[in-house]
Amino acid sequence: SDLGADPAMELVDRLKERVTIEGAQEADSVREMLREELIAMVDPSMDRRLTATRKDDKPAVMMVVGVNGVGKTTTVGKLARVLVAEKRNVILGAADTFRAAAAEQLTTWGERVGVETVRSDQEGADPASVAFSAVEEGIKQESDVVLVDTAGRLHSKANLMEELGKVKRVTEKQAEVGEVLLVIDATTGQNGLAQAKVFTEAVNVTGIVLTKMDGTAKGGIVVAIQRQLGVPVKLIGLGEGADDLAPFEAEAFVDALLAS
Ligand code: GDP
Repeated sequence: SDLGADPAMELVDRLKERVTIEGAQEADSVREMLREELIAMVDPSMDRRLTATRKDDKPAVMMVVGVNGVGKTTTVGKLARVLVAEKRNVILGAADTFRAAAAEQLTTWGERVGVETVRSDQEGADPASVAFSAVEEGIKQESDVVLVDTAGRLHSKANLMEELGKVKRVTEKQAEVGEVLLVIDATTGQNGLAQAKVFTEAVNVTGIVLTKMDGTAKGGIVVAIQRQLGVPVKLIGLGEGADDLAPFEAEAFVDALLAS
């Protein structure tokens, strides 16, 4: 399941050790040991809560980052839906000004879930200034959360770091960015993970959203992601629809992995 070579080896070693010490009369007991060891690897003790409440009389600000096509805009839409269902007032910021269709796509999501989208009419506008305006609007409207979508082009690491760093810095002139969510496409496996690493060097990532979990049996990537990036998986994407976003739960996740 794309657990990765090192964790897979560790897992086999742990199981061998336990079978030697505890014995295993039945296949069921080995399966239960496997389940327990996998849950331990996914680490149920990690804090996976989202910072989504107002602080210092200002909205909670979340930035969503990641490579193009991984599902950032879709995730912002779904997340807005979850927050709206929790009776929170939400504003979206279309700071992906690089791709012409991105602001349009985000606005459509906003309309779908009933929240306003702050965007620039100009293609190629300064993403930092759009993010700034979105938070400014959130402060004015006393919103609970401002969700900022960003561009994912990776044409050079230095350029990406500069742009994302600037978006964050400029946004923080208005309010603290409490959450930076890095979106990773589960179907791209270890490859996608290598690309995603660049983002953790550009901004201080606070959580991972693992998308397209409906299209893969490679869920083991969760373990590799958390180990290599040192950040918990907080949410998983399970489809293209508005309701296809779920909090990540270690035990339910391992059970699904073992059933597949
Ligand atoms: P962005 O470029 O990172 O903003 O990516 P988009 O949000 O535009 O998503 C790219 C494609 O992935 C779209 O066709 C989405 O519908 C699809 N997508 C996003 N999340 C999921 C998911 O959890 N499961 C599936 N099956 N598709 C998804």
